[in-house]
Amino acid sequence: MVFPAQTRLLHYLVLLGLTFALTLGGILARPIESLSLFWPVNAVLAGVLLRYPRQATLPGFALVWLAMVAADLLCGSAWLPALWFNLCNLGVVVTVWLLLSRLPRLHRRMRTPHGVLSLFGACAAGALVAASMATAMAAPWFEQSLRATWLAWFSEQFSTSVLVLPVLLTAPSVAALVRGGAQAIRLAPLLVLLASLAFSIAFGGPGAIAFPIAALLWCAWTYSPFLVSLLTLTAGSTLIVAVAQNLMHFSLPQSEPGVTTLMSARLGIAMLVLGPLVVACVSQANRSLMARLAHQASIDHLTGVLTRSAFTRRANALLDSRQQHAQALPLTLMMLDIDHFKSINDAHGHAVGDQVLRQFAGTLQDQLHDGELLARLGGEEFVVVLPGLAPDQAKFIAERLRRAVQELHVLHAGQQLQITVSIGLAGCAADTPAPTLDELLAQADSALYRAKAHGRNRVEQAEAQRQVL
Ligand code: GH3
Ligand code: MG
Ligand code: MG
Repeated sequence: MVFPAQTRLLHYLVLLGLTFALTLGGILARPIESLSLFWPVNAVLAGVLLRYPRQATLPGFALVWLAMVAADLLCGSAWLPALWFNLCNLGVVVTVWLLLSRLPRLHRRMRTPHGVLSLFGACAAGALVAASMATAMAAPWFEQSLRATWLAWFSEQFSTSVLVLPVLLTAPSVAALVRGGAQAIRLAPLLVLLASLAFSIAFGGPGAIAFPIAALLWCAWTYSPFLVSLLTLTAGSTLIVAVAQNLMHFSLPQSEPGVTTLMSARLGIAMLVLGPLVVACVSQANRSLMARLAHQASIDHLTGVLTRSAFTRRANALLDSRQQHAQALPLTLMMLDIDHFKSINDAHGHAVGDQVLRQFAGTLQDQLHDGELLARLGGEEFVVVLPGLAPDQAKFIAERLRRAVQELHVLHAGQQLQITVSIGLAGCAADTPAPTLDELLAQADSALYRAKAHGRNRVEQAEAQRQVL
């Protein structure tokens, strides 16, 4: 058995191991005696702590610092620079964490433009803290000017954080990935992005870092924010490497030792990805809103069955597809109305009436199969469509529904409430011209009227069918 204290210890050990491994990887990947092209350790740790905030405590941050220092010392750094420059790194992690962890979850997980802008602000603040701290103590260790040191730290930390953090903040959980399953994605925006990156490098010049904007925007309104974050990371790092290797053939006149074209390009590239990230989160919010609205418009909020408008759409689609087949299938429509429902409301109150409606709809749903439609037309009036069944076959199903409702007991205040239903049935046999939906509804309604008139709790068939059969 694992106790909570042991679990916490385990999580701290994971954090320690992760920091140590990331720092070691970062040091080993950088060119000898120079600052790394990318130092993603700080952004990754800030992202991990924002996603798993239980370890974002004073001991947690202290462990992160110790692990960074240990990895640095292992790679041969001297004590003092290792202690100080890793404190600068910790400055990024703590600043970004402090600023973003206070945001509401929707903003923090970059679901809103406000969230994306806050992320940019937090990354700029984190880079500012680290650059200022590093510059304050840089004189003995760096030969370049203080301005060059500050710009080197700021431009690297800002651009790397802006490229890396969105991936961690938008990443779906493992459970959500499993739920979502494999999904096909449209390849065209991705291919155009790759082509425009290649074109940027081939054409070169100072404007070339902006060439992929159109493709990134296309990706942004096509893909999920997580995929867009991965693409902005890929595109941004590719451009940074291309500028660093002078593949794009542009460089500013060297006005001051240590101040390179790369620093300006880094900041430009970081700003470049802001637009696509905002577009990605706005279009994702739009898609979820549209899906929620479509769901609300098609599902009755009380009973969970189809609404009248969704039913009309689906039933018309069924009738249309029936029309298109050479051998038209039979089809039946039933109209159901609870008997004396008003007296339940009057005797027990509206809330109990609602409970009866919910259980009534649930009972009908249990009796029906996939592909059969059940909708609430309004009040206590429902409709069922059975494709593939002629009215004479469907009569038995209507009887089954009527009995199931009669056997339904709704428990209220220790009392068993019972209801009955009257059903009117209309439809068309195989290979006969289909009536319109309005005609079917009118026929079923007059059959229902007869069921009520003949004493309720019974099934009646439309006149048209009774003559044909
Ligand atoms: P009949 O056997 O002739 O169908 O009698 P009835 O009382 O069922 O018919 P009537 O149409 O007169 O009454 C329907 C009642 O359904 C009236 C209305 O207050 C009630 N009703 C409509 N919508 C809702 C609802 O959403 N919740 C509840 N609790 N009652 C509703
Ligand atoms: Mg009724
Ligand atoms: Mg009614």
